[in-house]
Amino acid sequence: MDLLHTQLQAIQHKLAFVATDAIDWKFYVQVFSWGVTIFESYLLLRQYPLYNKTEPPRALQGHFGEGEFEKSQVYGRDKAKFAFVSGLYKQSLDSGMLQWGFYAWAWRAAGGLLGKFGYGSEYQISQSIAFVFILFFGSTIPTLPLQVYGTFVLEEKHGFNKTTPKLFVTDLVKGWAIAFVLGAPFLAVFLYIFEWAGERFVPWLMAFMITFQLAMVVLYPTVIQPLFNKLSPLADGDLRNRIEALAEKLKFPLKHLYEIDGSKRSSHSNAYFFGLPWSKHIVIFDTLIQQSKPEEVEAVLAHELGHWYYLHPTKLMAISQLHIFAILALFPAFLHAPPLLTAFDFPKAVSAQPPTIVAFLLFQMILTPLEAVIGIGMNAVSRKFEWEADRFAVELEEKLNEKDMGDMGERLGTALITLHVKNLSTVWVDWLYSAYHHSHPTLTERLKALEGFQDAKKKST
Ligand SMILES: [Zn+2]
Repeated sequence: MDLLHTQLQAIQHKLAFVATDAIDWKFYVQVFSWGVTIFESYLLLRQYPLYNKTEPPRALQGHFGEGEFEKSQVYGRDKAKFAFVSGLYKQSLDSGMLQWGFYAWAWRAAGGLLGKFGYGSEYQISQSIAFVFILFFGSTIPTLPLQVYGTFVLEEKHGFNKTTPKLFVTDLVKGWAIAFVLGAPFLAVFLYIFEWAGERFVPWLMAFMITFQLAMVVLYPTVIQPLFNKLSPLADGDLRNRIEALAEKLKFPLKHLYEIDGSKRSSHSNAYFFGLPWSKHIVIFDTLIQQSKPEEVEAVLAHELGHWYYLHPTKLMAISQLHIFAILALFPAFLHAPPLLTAFDFPKAVSAQPPTIVAFLLFQMILTPLEAVIGIGMNAVSRKFEWEADRFAVELEEKLNEKDMGDMGERLGTALITLHVKNLSTVWVDWLYSAYHHSHPTLTERLKALEGFQDAKKKST
């Protein structure tokens, strides 16, 4: 522990200038956040012409029904235009809020709100919670029209939207209620740890975050998801038998096998698993079951179980802990830095004794460019995991010594193509656009790799 603290202090020492120098942090955040937005717009401009191609890639020719490829291209164009406009709109909004001192105003408004209930500024944690909610609504409400347009115009036009206005509103209200019920106590404990642990907050905060994440693994499927979707046990039959047999052979601790009514909101399809190490749940979208044959859905699950077999979720969680640790290690230098708050228009009375939540939020904004780079790295890791899971499915035949799993690669390929075609997913992708945005390899890349894995398998036998 002491070694950790010496190291953390060394970092803080290097960043000591943050607490003393008057740096124009606001200008810096403006420049970088616009930089990120302009780069993202540039990526869309690179990607856009590919939606004008009239033929699918060779590997996919023959898989599209009459007019389906054209439909996917039109959908891609519409989505790209929407992303372009909404990206610029959101950034203009954030930039305006930043420029005209919205954050300082929100802190004062939170103080005023508490004052109405007879609480003074000594109730910093309560004021912080009010502050975060003012910020949350201040930035969410102006973007609601985008969400409405995306669901009821864009997705509707291409036949994906199944959400009714009533469902849309109840989802929204439920989402806000959950954010409050979970967010407020989370924030209170988070801030209390700073007060209580003082300079030595890093390990305590890490322990708290890990506990919270594990609690969410249990709470999300049992409490939160049922508020939005209906999970019903997968009906008996071919598909259920296949998945149960597969889970048993792999010693996957399958506790429940569900079908989810994803079609209630959208006809996009998927499958996933979750749970604690000794008790896992598999969830399959009703749309996937309708669109693919049981043996193809089985192959999709074989891919998913590949993620489990190679401990991908655990690895991703470990990376995310490292990420949180790095952020927390840098934070102390920004925690007691009056010039930081002054740069964002906070009055002297507040900036002299920076409230933890304000310092943390401003610090997060300063990290934006770094986060964009980390995002690219995370995509690369996630893509590597996708290859591994695909290869796992292909190699099941040998792993389990099951002759009838020899065609798992073909089945997975067919399932992926169906998923892509039905979801009108983009098939022509610019490499830079993909590196920045995609956590999955493109369909053509995956099909080519699946073939490669199968050839390698044939050679080795
Ligand atoms: Zn995957």
